[in-house]
Amino acid sequence: MSEHWDAIVVGAGTMGVAATLELARRGKRVLAIDRFGVPNDRASHHGATRFFRTAYFEHPDYVPLLVRAREGWARLEAESGERLFERTGMLLIGPRGGAIVEPTIESAKAHGIEHEVLSRADVRARYPMFEVAEDSIGVYEPGAGCLACEKAIGAMARLARGRGATFLEHTPVVDWSADARGVAVRTAGQTYRADKLVLTQGAWSGELARELGIKLRVTRQVMFWLAPPGDGPSAPPGLPVWAVETKAGADSEEDAGGVTFGFPLVLGEKGLKTCSHTPGRVSDPDALDREVTDADERPIRAFLSRHAPALDTARLDARVCMYTMICDEHFVIDRHPRHENVVIACGFSGHGFKFAPIVGATLAYLLLSDGFGPPHFTLARRASA
Ligand SMILES: Cc1cc2nc3c(=O)[nH]c(=O)nc-3n(C[C@H](O)[C@H](O)[C@H](O)COP(=O)(O)OP(=O)(O)OC[C@H]3O[C@@H](n4cnc5c(N)ncnc54)[C@H](O)[C@@H]3O)c2cc1C
Repeated sequence: MSEHWDAIVVGAGTMGVAATLELARRGKRVLAIDRFGVPNDRASHHGATRFFRTAYFEHPDYVPLLVRAREGWARLEAESGERLFERTGMLLIGPRGGAIVEPTIESAKAHGIEHEVLSRADVRARYPMFEVAEDSIGVYEPGAGCLACEKAIGAMARLARGRGATFLEHTPVVDWSADARGVAVRTAGQTYRADKLVLTQGAWSGELARELGIKLRVTRQVMFWLAPPGDGPSAPPGLPVWAVETKAGADSEEDAGGVTFGFPLVLGEKGLKTCSHTPGRVSDPDALDREVTDADERPIRAFLSRHAPALDTARLDARVCMYTMICDEHFVIDRHPRHENVVIACGFSGHGFKFAPIVGATLAYLLLSDGFGPPHFTLARRASA
């Protein structure tokens, strides 16, 4: 492949495939390179499902982006003919003054998002599978639901190929350089040249981050799939996607508190997926311990036995994934400060998947225009923080 491309995308995972599709939609000739397959179960986008919610406790500024992202997912479903989103509603439970429920309510109110505030008694009556702590309340967003993550990446890649994009899989990029004439991207066997470069390397963004003065931490996150307690495809009845914030248990060291989240049996899930949102052990993505041990399971069991005993069922499967955490948990999406023709997106801090269509569109926009990116996510903002 000695041809010259309009753009090369390094890292064809969640954000890289979304950017590839956006560039291909704009008529650009794109080469997307990934060290694994597209999709794959080595990076941060595996495990069948991801939440999509619009009322956003992380910061209300994300809401307009989520509205655009939801349009992007709907367009992707229409163009691919595949079912990628299932509306299940989302329930959040947590203490008053905590990190998730009241900020979600504020964000919903500020942006007019349909939601219901639930008292402790309301939650207990409607969702008897949860034991709600004395000081806790709930909020329900009926428009939220699940995205099929690997399936969505596959659909974006297929559509991008249909528009002329080329994917090079199982090919690690070892180096890149850029100057005013263009960019060069090196793999073990070859050098590829293009006008522009997109760097979306997920957990492998460490070297770039160091060069840019950003601190990233890759953490080990374990996903558990548990047996549904009742019969039927969506058992137990009425279970939406959920997240529960708890305080540490007084009588159990394993029950450290934090946010735990889970999914109902939708979009081909093999069990009720349950995970802790607390960043796990800091890890090297190339030496990630993928063996799941009893020690990994104990905190989840401690949470379930105290707060959701009806969901404390047999383990069907468990897999290891990664978060790429940045100090304030807000993404970086920007031009490279020294190379006008290079754009970067990293630090998605365990909540990026749902944004993929708008991140892809933003990267394409940054690459093809002279405009500025979303101020919230720029490197300049980070330098002044
Ligand atoms: C357990 C878990 C649950 C989550 N739940 C949610 C959720 O409910 N909702 C939500 O919105 N988000 C969620 N997330 C977060 C979301 O999945 C991530 O933020 C998102 O997938 C990150 O996308 P990315 O493109 O940065 O990384 P990835 O999708 O991992 O893509 C990076 C790609 O770059 C490739 N790559 C890296 N270096 C190179 C190189 N040198 N050469 C070639 N290729 C390279 C990798 O192989 C990889 O495919 C969750 C994450 C985990 C782990």
